[in-house]
Amino acid sequence: MRIEGDVKLDFKDVLIRPKRSTLASRNEVDCTRAFRFLHTGREWTGFPLVAANMDVTGTFAMARALGRFGATAALHKHHDVGALAEFFRGPDARHAFYSLGIGEADRAKLAAVKANGAAPVAICLDVANGYTEAFLDAVKRTRDDNPDAAIMAGNVVTGDMTEALVLAGADVVKIGIGPGSVCTTRKVTGVGYPQLSAIVECADAAHGLKGLVCADGGCTVPGDVAKAYGAGADFVMLGGMLAGHDECDGEIRWEERDGEKVAVGMVFYGMSSDVAMRKHSGGVAAYRASEGKSVVTPYRGPVEGTMQEIMGGVRSMMTYIGATKLKEVPKRTTFVRVSSQLNTVFGD
Ligand code: 5GP
Repeated sequence: MRIEGDVKLDFKDVLIRPKRSTLASRNEVDCTRAFRFLHTGREWTGFPLVAANMDVTGTFAMARALGRFGATAALHKHHDVGALAEFFRGPDARHAFYSLGIGEADRAKLAAVKANGAAPVAICLDVANGYTEAFLDAVKRTRDDNPDAAIMAGNVVTGDMTEALVLAGADVVKIGIGPGSVCTTRKVTGVGYPQLSAIVECADAAHGLKGLVCADGGCTVPGDVAKAYGAGADFVMLGGMLAGHDECDGEIRWEERDGEKVAVGMVFYGMSSDVAMRKHSGGVAAYRASEGKSVVTPYRGPVEGTMQEIMGGVRSMMTYIGATKLKEVPKRTTFVRVSSQLNTVFGD
């Protein structure tokens, strides 16, 4: 047994220190990024935000809505071949990642979508634990099968595995084990890594090899998205913050108010929760425990309002630290640690 003594931080443990700047207004900042993916040379420009590939948020409607902001959605893994082929043949294909796991069935499904004349230009290869040899092999195989597609792969939380995944063929490594809003991995298994430190360490490892990282999980407010970019995240993936909207595929909770039926909430659940396992795998297998939970999020109408809040928060952060372009944000970011007492005062 070994204990690592270095302090590791989460979003709530830091704030971004303001810096002198010549920027007068948040209209002067540009919060888009332009990337050239390492393994394909393919270029991408937009607001680097991705809806999580969860049942509720990884929908075609979400991809279309976020596309209007230059952002993207990772589609969930359970759309059928016909619907996926139709979507990826269409004009909104560039706003979505095709998500898959590492089984032979996943590989066959992607082949079937491609046989239907659709070739996803971005793929999200996604498992809960990216530390297995089988996952590395799957990244290599996916790279060989899809030489022209940008591949995002994860999840991991350490620099060594980030490097291994970039070298195996990932253009973007997805970072996060345990921070998700409906994730119970830390409670059920004791495994995890504070998300802000994971982003800092993995971004450093990936950038050294010209790879990119996507910070996945744990953002609960626009300020957390700003902190993720400050820590070095190239993309940020959101589940809970995008749940509860019209573009989601979730069961709506209604209430009777003044004789009228109004939407008040929407069910949102983890992809390893027993709800998801019942829906997709016929229940929780005897050898495994559920590592996700189900919650009811407030109903929030169209996602447009939330996107404006997130982008407004990021732009404002950029004016506070004097960053004209999103790319400059990590260089201009100094985090200050806040004490746990302060967290309590501010309601964490
Ligand atoms: P959020 O933005 O809601 O905090 O986090 C979203 C992320 O949580 C997803 O992209 C995914 O990585 C992770 N996640 C989703 N469902 C589950 C689950 O059931 N268990 C665990 N451990 N993580 C989950």
